[in-house]
Amino acid sequence: MPLVSQRAAPAIFGHMPELPEVESARRIIDQYALRRVIEEVDDSDTYVCRPHTPGEIRSALLGRRLSAVHRRGKSMWCETTGVGRSRKPGPLLGFHLGMSGKIVVGKANGSEVDGGDYWERGRKPGDLRFSRFRLSFTDGGFLVLVDPRRLGRVRLDPPVEKLGPDAAVVTREEFQSAMHRGTAPVKARLLDQEALAGVGNLLADQALWTARIRPSRPVDELSTDDVDRLYDAVRESVADSLANGGVHTLSFIPARRAGGTCPRCGAALQVGVVGTRTTWWCPVEQT
Ligand SMILES: [Zn+2]
Repeated sequence: MPLVSQRAAPAIFGHMPELPEVESARRIIDQYALRRVIEEVDDSDTYVCRPHTPGEIRSALLGRRLSAVHRRGKSMWCETTGVGRSRKPGPLLGFHLGMSGKIVVGKANGSEVDGGDYWERGRKPGDLRFSRFRLSFTDGGFLVLVDPRRLGRVRLDPPVEKLGPDAAVVTREEFQSAMHRGTAPVKARLLDQEALAGVGNLLADQALWTARIRPSRPVDELSTDDVDRLYDAVRESVADSLANGGVHTLSFIPARRAGGTCPRCGAALQVGVVGTRTTWWCPVEQT
């Protein structure tokens, strides 16, 4: 099976896996890692596994199986079974892919599948140099978090209840209430994971461009019509990137570069910092 990382991706840095990339990792776990008995756990990376001490995740998971995997925004977590025949479930096992994380699952037959960050180039099957966490299954296979930049995170019982509604399924009413509080720039609000979970820097620029809204506009100055258009744009951007293999496939993303022009009207794009993030927009249409 071809690796996700071998697909063509533009050379863009300073991004991170967004909702679609994390969803691709979730699907890999869902399809290939559930119901396999955990025989060994390498949780020795104390930074990635903070606040746990080495061995803590290991002893919590040995003998269990992953039974389900969920995602909200950019956070992902697995349910675990009881040990042996026990029906008492184990802890949740949380994953965050950080800036460059990828989930690699080794099948019992020795082949490999992966999902997650698209931008990390050059990883070949079998290359687990940047492994930060590993589950080994009794069938000989494994699940590994590969993360060159080491900004991912693995933890038991992650605090997912603080996250806002997931951007792939958020309702219009939930979106309106997230946009109608306070005076933050609209782009900063889109990136606020407690308001709306899953939108990162690239998805935010794509959605604001689609909706023709200037990223620095305060949310309290948006009209009902603006918020409606932005809702449609967020849902469309998320759906398109899920369908087409990641945020790098969205129409506005290749234009986000020096000399880039608006794919609709041809104007030279502007760049600035909004909500601490590098932001590109069309100065003619995004008002
Ligand atoms: Zn334009």
